[in-house]
Amino acid sequence: MNSTITNDTQEKRAEQDTDDSNLLPEESEVHLCHWCHRIEEENENFSIIDLSDEEKEKKFYYCSQEHEQRITKFYNYLEKVRSVFYVFVLLIPLVLIVLLVIFYNWLFIYILFISLGIGIIIHPMLGESTIKGIGLKNSLILGIVFGVIFVVIGVTLFVINGWTIFRPN
Ligand SMILES: [Zn+2]
Repeated sequence: MNSTITNDTQEKRAEQDTDDSNLLPEESEVHLCHWCHRIEEENENFSIIDLSDEEKEKKFYYCSQEHEQRITKFYNYLEKVRSVFYVFVLLIPLVLIVLLVIFYNWLFIYILFISLGIGIIIHPMLGESTIKGIGLKNSLILGIVFGVIFVVIGVTLFVINGWTIFRPN
């Protein structure tokens, strides 16, 4: 009887120990390539690329020289298109919402969808947690898919409803 109790406590302690280690994901030694999300093998040694700027610390593991270049290129590209992104995702939508309020015409909402979609396609950057979860390459593809869906929704609504709006009475 006694021995089973001790076993139980030991097991519980062991469980707690593993639980504790799960609470420390920051320093978990699993290294993933930031681009392709491949896990570092035992015989490998992923290097770190540091693209940090004043706003954010950006240090990423990469599996190969090629993927290092892809990561750098992608973040450089994002920098370049950031202002264009804000035009499509903030400025144009703001103007459209003002127009919607003035003219009370749903057409502006359809164009808003298209504008958001174009913005996301140009700058397909999903959240940090998504990138951590599926890798930069996959989140880029996912971002473009989202953008295309927005554009398709906008164009479809425009084609279905826009026609009747433009048609003179
Ligand atoms: Zn990789």
